[in-house]
Amino acid sequence: MTNDHPHEHHVLNPATEEVIATVPAASAADVDAAVARATTAQHGWSAAAPADRARLLRRFAAVVDDHIEELAALEVREAGHPIGNARWEAGNVRDLLDYAAGGAERLTGSQIPVAGGLNVTFHEPLGVVAVIAPWNFPMPIAAWGTAPALAAGNAVLLKPAETTPLTALRLAELALEAGLPEGLFQVLPGAGPVAGTALVEHPGVAKVVFTGSTGVGKEIMARCAAGVKRVTLELGGKSPNIVFADADVELAARSAPGSFLDNTGQDCCARSRILVQRSVYDRFMELLEPAVTSFAVGDPADPATAMGPLISAAQRERVRSYVPEDAPAAIRGEAPRGKGFWYPATVLEATGPQDRTAVEEIFGPVAVVLPFEDEADAVRLANATDYGLSGSIWTRDVGRALRVSRAVAAGNLSVNSHSSVRYSTPFGGYKQSGLGRELGPDALTAFTETKNVFISTEEQ
Ligand code: NAD
Repeated sequence: MTNDHPHEHHVLNPATEEVIATVPAASAADVDAAVARATTAQHGWSAAAPADRARLLRRFAAVVDDHIEELAALEVREAGHPIGNARWEAGNVRDLLDYAAGGAERLTGSQIPVAGGLNVTFHEPLGVVAVIAPWNFPMPIAAWGTAPALAAGNAVLLKPAETTPLTALRLAELALEAGLPEGLFQVLPGAGPVAGTALVEHPGVAKVVFTGSTGVGKEIMARCAAGVKRVTLELGGKSPNIVFADADVELAARSAPGSFLDNTGQDCCARSRILVQRSVYDRFMELLEPAVTSFAVGDPADPATAMGPLISAAQRERVRSYVPEDAPAAIRGEAPRGKGFWYPATVLEATGPQDRTAVEEIFGPVAVVLPFEDEADAVRLANATDYGLSGSIWTRDVGRALRVSRAVAAGNLSVNSHSSVRYSTPFGGYKQSGLGRELGPDALTAFTETKNVFISTEEQ
């Protein structure tokens, strides 16, 4: 929550609405000073031996590993994530640091055959990189940009979301404890339009990695144009979960709730449009109901909890603007009453493919179900949004699985599962879901310039 005081933010526990911390908000002058410190630190860091950079990043990973419980508990409090999820998120930071560390020594260029000499390429660091993170997965998303950027020899300025700065601030302390140089990885909590804009416009920042809403992403991309600044965007989604009649319909129904209720639906990859072949539609809905209503909602600190509250009052208002809690729904779960930004799991049957709830991102625990006739119809419906982040395809027909995977315009698809984000595989969106890719074997090159050098071997 942003309070009236422009120099600080109150951080609330979304399950109780209690203020758990007050954090100073960075000004444009703070950003200037941070860029200056980062620039100095980056010079030393990029000159260091790749093996030394790798060693320090592995040490950072080890220190994070020693603090998994503390980081997870902090995320339970500031973001309302169930403790099981929060532990995974802290572990993801550790794993990503380890994975990226290996890249520091493998950032090999190429030797390209040309006449009259030797031609080689180098991947050189960009300099100072800004990572602007959202509140929905504060730790993993911060690490997706930060770890490969550092491994490739850059400095990182991380601006967490106003509502969730605490784990990011703690990670910066742990980086120093691990021995990373002062100034190399700094966290600047602050308002998007103040600290965020100052980072985007700063001439000393070479690249912006932004994860958040599509509207803000477009604005950032436009601002980056002024300095031809590099930009990676991870934006919204409205991803399909396509269930064919030849699938294991029981398994598809049983696993569907997790794919749109995990993180209370505040997941850019949420499978929030369930497309079901008409011949199995009624059976699927019958099976879906108990799976949704038994999804455990409650105290995020309880290990049995699968779904916590929404992040804020504003986010709950946004979800209600699409679906008031008393609107007719095909399936509706329970949610705690009283304090906290609770909202029940909700499944709607779309009145048509252009239904607002079927094409716009709600970012809450709401899915809309649409029937389809055949494979062509499924693909047409799946592609009928401006987004293209992820999706799932349920079928026992291998040929169909591959045909539909190739036909759906999205960056991350899974067949007979809902997995989509692994640190070792590329992640990013088609269309208005984003620009560029994060994670995977090529993550480091997104934080480098490719330099080509030709060395003449002609006799002088
Ligand atoms: P948001 O766009 O409002 O904010 C994201 C971050 O950008 C925050 O740190 C915010 O302070 C900052 N920001 C806001 N205005 C800014 C500006 N003018 N200049 C620079 N920085 C600015 O989004 P949100 O409400 O935090 O997150 C929810 C949205 O993010 C959803 O639409 C969701 O789909 C999307 N999202 C996408 C992904 C993905 O990987 N594709 C991941 C998470 C969230």
